[in-house]
Formats: sequence, C-alpha cells, structure tokens
Amino acid sequence: MWLAVRAVRGGGVGFGSPRAASGAAAAQLRQRLESELEDIRGAGTWKSERVIASRQGPHLRLAGGGGGIINFCANNYLGLSSHPEVIRAAVEALEKFGAGLSSVRFICGTQSIHKDLEEKIARFHQREDAILYASCFDANAGIFEALLTPEDAVLSDELNHASIIDGIRLCKANKYRYKHMDMQDLEAKLQEAQKHRLRLVATDGAFSMDGDIAPLREICQLAQKYDALVFIDECHATGFLGPNGRGTDELLGVMDKVTIVNSTLGKALGGAAGGYTTGPKPLIDLLRQRSRPYLFSNSLPPAVVGCASKALDLLMESNAIAQSMAAKTQRFRSKMTAAGFTISGKDHPICPVMLGDARLASVMAEDMLNRGIYVIGFSYPVVPKGKARIRVQISAVHSDEDIDRCVEAFTEVGRKHGALP
Ligand code: PLP
Repeated sequence: MWLAVRAVRGGGVGFGSPRAASGAAAAQLRQRLESELEDIRGAGTWKSERVIASRQGPHLRLAGGGGGIINFCANNYLGLSSHPEVIRAAVEALEKFGAGLSSVRFICGTQSIHKDLEEKIARFHQREDAILYASCFDANAGIFEALLTPEDAVLSDELNHASIIDGIRLCKANKYRYKHMDMQDLEAKLQEAQKHRLRLVATDGAFSMDGDIAPLREICQLAQKYDALVFIDECHATGFLGPNGRGTDELLGVMDKVTIVNSTLGKALGGAAGGYTTGPKPLIDLLRQRSRPYLFSNSLPPAVVGCASKALDLLMESNAIAQSMAAKTQRFRSKMTAAGFTISGKDHPICPVMLGDARLASVMAEDMLNRGIYVIGFSYPVVPKGKARIRVQISAVHSDEDIDRCVEAFTEVGRKHGALP
C-alpha cells in the first residue's frame, strides 16, 4: 500500500492532466457555463479570492506579495484563530483522536470530545443542550424543516442571512417576511399568523452587512404578546457581544426569552469551522433524529473540536478578551466619524464605511491595499443598489496603532477619490 503511494509520488503513475468530458451534452454545458461566467464578469459582481500565505491574524502575508498587510476583513473578532493555546489544543486533539471519524454521528462518529463540546456550548449559552454541525449554514439548513410543519408559521427578517433563508425554504411551514427590524410590520405579521399552531420569529442577532443589532427586547415582547418562539442566529455575536460575550441575548438582557440559538465555531470561537444549535433538550433530541445535515454528514474533525473547545475555555475563564473588543471598536468608529466618514451600525466590530457608489468602494479598497490595509468593498447584489460600502471588521488583537493606521489610510484614500472634502 505505502509502496504504491510512493510510486505515484515518485513520478510513476501520477494523476496526469485534467480530462475534458466529451460529447454534445458536455460541450453544451461548457458553453452555457462560460456564458454565465461572462455575465457575472460583465455585471461587475465577480468575486475573486486573494491567496493568503500566512496564518489568519491581524497581520498577513499575501501569496506573491509582501508581508505587513494589516487585515480588517476577517470574522476573527477575538483573534483566537491563531491563539497559541487554541492551536495547541487542536494538535493535541488530532494526535489523541485522529484526523477524522469517517462516519456520521449516529453510526460511529461520536467521540467523547464531541459530547464534551456540546455540553460546554450549552453551558456557555445557559441552555439545556446543544448539537454540533459541520457549519452554521448546516445548522440553519436543518432546524426549520425538522421543527415546523404546514400547521406552523415562521416569521423572518427580510435581511436574514442566506442560510436562514435557505433553511426556511426547505420547510413546509407558512412563511412571513417582515421588514428589516420593523416592529410594526412584525406585529402585523404576528397577528396574521395567529391562525397557525406555532409561530417562530427568526432573526440574525447582529446583521453582517450593516453591523446593526436586532431589537431583541421588542421582538421578545411581541413574541410574548402573540405567543411565539424566538430563534436567533448569533454568528456575529457569540463570544464578544454582552458583558461576558454570550451574545445579543445577553447584551439586551433576554437570555431567558430566546428559545433557540444557532451559531458558528468558524468566526470568534477559534475560526476553524463548525456550527451548532443550542436550546431546549427535547428540541436537540429531535434534531439528532430528524435534522438532515446532521444525520447525513460527517462528524466534526477532532482538531476542529479541539480549537472550539479551547476557545470556549478561554472565554469562560475571563471576560477580558470579550471586553477588549469593545474599546477597539469604539476607537475606530469615533476616529472615522471625526474624519468625516459615515459608519453604519452601532457598537459592533462590523464597521461598514458607507460610500454609496460601487466603483468608488472598489477603487478605494484597492488603494487601501496599496497602503497595506486589507479591506473589502461590497456592492449590489450583496447590498442594495446605491449603498456600496467598504466593510471593516475590528479584532481584539488589532493594536491601537493598527487602527490608527487604518483611519489614516482611509482619510488619504478618501480625499484622493473624492469621498472626503
Ligand atoms: N449565519 C450568519 C449570520 C453568517 O454570517 C454565516 C457565515 O457567514 C453563517 C450563518 C454560516 O456560518 P458557517 O460559516 O459556520 O457556515
């Protein structure tokens, strides 16, 4: 076996060059795909991927380029993805538990570390139980179909993340979409939905394009008035919002009123991958029986479990990391506002610098990189037309100097391109 592998590596059999499928259908498909790709380029919405040649962190080296790039576009809110203890925990888990499980959870894919992590997540969020998924996208894809039937209703904020929208599409419940954070509209929709057996209000805790935070107190009050449950997606909140980093529900004092929390292990909690649902035990038990992305997908790899588990230990030991985030965010927001920029959202490390024009956002982002600051411009269709922006994300491991350099670069580039007087 090993000899065979070596023979291939040594230039023996090898994999050869790619083979194009032949036949009329394959040719027709290729033509159609190429034309679709051309349309995407023509519409100016092509997403290219920059290749990073270093670890994820506040300072990066890009492949083929120089080092010393200050990174302001990762969801590495707490800087834990390159934290030495997180990396050590991953290596230890890898050595002790192997590369992976080659199995779904219910066949032979559950190790003690998976159970420990689920217990830790539930404790962190002060919920009864938790279930792991390969991603939060999967957690969102799996929950609505397993929980809601045609007798039920789901009420969803119009700007919810794509994975919530897709999860809701997969379920057979009656669907209501309310205007973004509009409590009057939510109330009207709740009144309409009284005829159904069960009502579930679904919202992002923090919205990733605008850095705005769902009005959870008001949502929970309406849910109580109209006998509904509340679900939140905490991908952009877990680990750093609230006095102890528990999330939006802690920040707004409604931990006991939100029934279901979905979140990711791929952002603040170590940044590797993975997602979860936490909430009432019978719901988690049901998801283990019925949720398709859980039942039909491989278990989380031990190294990934190790990272997340250590990240949670660090957060439960002390709230210092979560709190350092807030001061950095405040520094960036206030200096940028003083420089004359408009920053959307409030008190969130997602700081969208609003520019309006798509071309302006794109050329400014490019020019920022020339000055060693890595930021990304977003335009239609990712955000509404005329609302193009550069999204800056602050991490607890940015130094004050990093933040000041970013503001200086924005000021220079903004003046050069006419975004500032
Ligand atoms: N929900 C929200 C609000 C997100 O921003 C994301 C990731 O971008 C996801 C869900 C999906 O998370 P994951 O990367 O764990 O699949």
